[in-house]
Amino acid sequence: MEDTPKPRNVRPPDYPELHDIDAFNKRLAAAFDRINKIRPYKMESLGEVGGRDIFLLSPEEPLEGKPNILTAGGFHGEEAGGPWGIIEFLETADEETLRSVNHSFLPLVNPTGFERGVRFNIHGENPNRGFVAEYMDSEEEQDAPWTNHGPSAEGKILLEHGDRLVELARDGFTSQHEDDGIHEGFIFINEQGPMPSPTAIAFLDTLKRHFALIPDGGVNDLEGSPIKDGMWINGMDSSFETWMLQKGVPRTITTETPALEPARARVDCNRELTKAFADSAARLGLGEPALKKDARAIRKKPESPKP
Ligand SMILES: [Zn+2]
Repeated sequence: MEDTPKPRNVRPPDYPELHDIDAFNKRLAAAFDRINKIRPYKMESLGEVGGRDIFLLSPEEPLEGKPNILTAGGFHGEEAGGPWGIIEFLETADEETLRSVNHSFLPLVNPTGFERGVRFNIHGENPNRGFVAEYMDSEEEQDAPWTNHGPSAEGKILLEHGDRLVELARDGFTSQHEDDGIHEGFIFINEQGPMPSPTAIAFLDTLKRHFALIPDGGVNDLEGSPIKDGMWINGMDSSFETWMLQKGVPRTITTETPALEPARARVDCNRELTKAFADSAARLGLGEPALKKDARAIRKKPESPKP
């Protein structure tokens, strides 16, 4: 997929500010002030693309013995449910939740795509590709128009801060995406051990409270995919989540809420997914072994779900 296939309604009646970057940054600043009063946080710009900041929020002092997890949203600009879900989590999370884990946030990775309501950034690059050389050069990606043969402008900024982001995601990383053309949700999950793992159950139970799960094998352009019970397990590509995994992060979850469903419901679901990640990580605690390097399988049709 080269870019957003169909123009989106960037001002849906049930969420008119869906792609309003100024409204987003204003609410982010207020939400940061709120959590900072509950538990000291810092908010910093990791860098700018097209004059727009990529913000990171992280606990000022990590609590010892608590898991470090990182939630990211908005790698793809038209997938606004994730970023707003993170904002609404920050606007509502209670002290118990905020102190149960060391939870860091990249609320909006691709602000220039977000403000235009399109998938790619202002340079036409896919911010979630080009991180892992071996998959960039794979048969699936090497000639595909939806990937990059190196990191995007956003990717370069994330990689400049890569060691720190890996430490902040030491016990888990979630990237909140949305999928075009479907009314059902699903997850990609990379984690060692029998499935559904406790992490997978936490995410799937949350998705199911808002949407149907996608049928096994997917629908339409997802046909032939290995999706079963709402999960695509241990697929790899040149995405940031695969890069994290290869750096030793023990579990990565990529959530896909359905872009055809109302914006309000998608934001609600993403807010609850952010909380479900915190709650499941708090229950699991520290110290899970990293996914074995040999446990990889390339996604068969990476252009279809295109996380
Ligand atoms: Zn996406």
